[in-house]
Amino acid sequence: MRRMRGERMMPSLRFPFDLRTLRRLPPLFLRALGMIAALAIMTACNGGPFAPITMSRMTDADAYAIAFLDQLQPRSFATGREFCGLLGRDASGAVRATAPVMGHREHCTPGRAPENFNTFASYHTHGAFHADIDSEVPSAFDLVADREEGVIGYISTPGGRVWRSAQGRARLLCGPGCIAADPAYRPAAHAPIAPRYTADELRRRERGI
Ligand SMILES: [Zn+2]
Repeated sequence: MRRMRGERMMPSLRFPFDLRTLRRLPPLFLRALGMIAALAIMTACNGGPFAPITMSRMTDADAYAIAFLDQLQPRSFATGREFCGLLGRDASGAVRATAPVMGHREHCTPGRAPENFNTFASYHTHGAFHADIDSEVPSAFDLVADREEGVIGYISTPGGRVWRSAQGRARLLCGPGCIAADPAYRPAAHAPIAPRYTADELRRRERGI
C-alpha cells in the first residue's frame, strides 16, 4: 500500500528540468522514509520490531489473557524486559488489549488506555529467567497496584505460568509451561510455589520468611 501511494504521487511532481536520475529519486526516498517511519512506530508501540500479536475474538478474559501473554512472552525473553498493557472490552463485549509497552527488568508501567476502552485488567510479563529474581510469582506490589487501580491483573512468568490477581489476592490460572517458557528457566531455582497468595504472603516470601 505504501509503495503504491508513493508511485501515484509521481505524476503530480513537476521538475524544472528533465533528469531521469532525479525523477527516480522521489519514490525511492518515499519508500525509505516509509520504512523508517514503520520501524519507528513499531519501536515506539511495541518496544522493538517484533511480530504483531494476532488474536481471535474472545469474550472470556482469562482465555484471552493466556493466549495474548503466550504470544508476548518471547519479547520478554529476547530483551530481558517486562512488557505490559491493559485489557478492555469493545461495545460487543469482546476483549481487546492496548499495544504492549516495553518496561524494565523488574517493572513496567502500562500506557493510558484510549477513550471508551472499558479497561478491566492490566497485563504484564516477568521478563527473562534470572536465578536471582523470584519472578515465578507476582510481587506483592503487583497485587497492591492492581487493587488500587481497581482492575484485575494477569501476570506471566519466565517458567510459563499465568497468574490472575484480584482484590489483593493472586491465583495461579495455569502452571509451568502452559504458555511459552524461557528456555533458560530452571524450576529448582526458587522456593516451592503455592497456587494462591495474598499480598502479605508474597511480602513474607520476598523477605525470605
Ligand atoms: Zn510483576
